Amino acid sequence: MMLPEWLEAPYQLASQWRHNRAFHHALLLTGTNGVGQHFFAERLAKLLLCENIAKAPCGVCHSCELAKAETHPDWLTLDGSQGTIKVDAVRQVVSKVSNKPQLGHTKVVLIYDAHNMNINAANAILKALEEPPSSTYFLLTSNTSRSLMPTIISRCQRLTLANPTTEQTIHWLQQEGKQGAGELLWFSQSPFRLLQLAESSSAEMMQSLPADLSRWLGGEIRSDELVASVNNERLRDFVDGVSALIHIALNYSVTGSCQKDVKNTVENLLTHYDLYRLMTISSNLTQLKADLDKTHLNPTIQLIGELNSW
Ligand SMILES: [Zn+2]
Repeated sequence: MMLPEWLEAPYQLASQWRHNRAFHHALLLTGTNGVGQHFFAERLAKLLLCENIAKAPCGVCHSCELAKAETHPDWLTLDGSQGTIKVDAVRQVVSKVSNKPQLGHTKVVLIYDAHNMNINAANAILKALEEPPSSTYFLLTSNTSRSLMPTIISRCQRLTLANPTTEQTIHWLQQEGKQGAGELLWFSQSPFRLLQLAESSSAEMMQSLPADLSRWLGGEIRSDELVASVNNERLRDFVDGVSALIHIALNYSVTGSCQKDVKNTVENLLTHYDLYRLMTISSNLTQLKADLDKTHLNPTIQLIGELNSW
């Protein structure tokens, strides 16, 4: 994948740090969810691991080859995007980086969604940041640095990734061969979220959701027909999509503007329900999502029950 346009400037900056041997041993990457922190952090890991510092990443050295194959022994990851990072995982990683690099000159610890470290894990990382093992770089990502311990933040250099413009997002999705995802900007403005959606099995369902919901509101299709393409895998996207349309409708009632792709649906929603009802529906959908985790009832049946109660 090419470096997206909105990440070029911060990447140039980080490259300069590396080439001047001025890269801070701990870098905190912040930005909105889906702006590309993870992708960017991986690029930086490759930049740091390359053995030809002046030309990094050269793409041809042994380190570059292993990094590309994702088998570099000095590239360690703690992943908070899948749940809480626990202290044992941190200890294992810290113990590994306290040894010499196995291969080149540097070691990289990537911490995705660092705000998902529990307190013990955060303290263990803090200790490592205070007394960094030699030639080790810590790259932390977070969409909400407010939930990080201030002592961790104070040990890191910070780099904030700015959001792309709508045009940049659309252009990039086209480059990635996902033109259709550009029609989902009503659902998310985050380029990487849109890319993920376009690559998931929900793509088609989400693209037709505004029109389908309108048809359902107009009585053209039944609830079971509206959710016909929803399975367990797509359920969350469906609920999030309907919630997003309701939020847009609430917003539209105040501002009088919204993306033209969903204007028809939004006006339909406002014709059928008053604002108070829309707010209730919105909170019911939030509750439904929470319940889906807890109950073993058929989720599609729960969803149809919810729609029929509107
Ligand atoms: Zn290299």
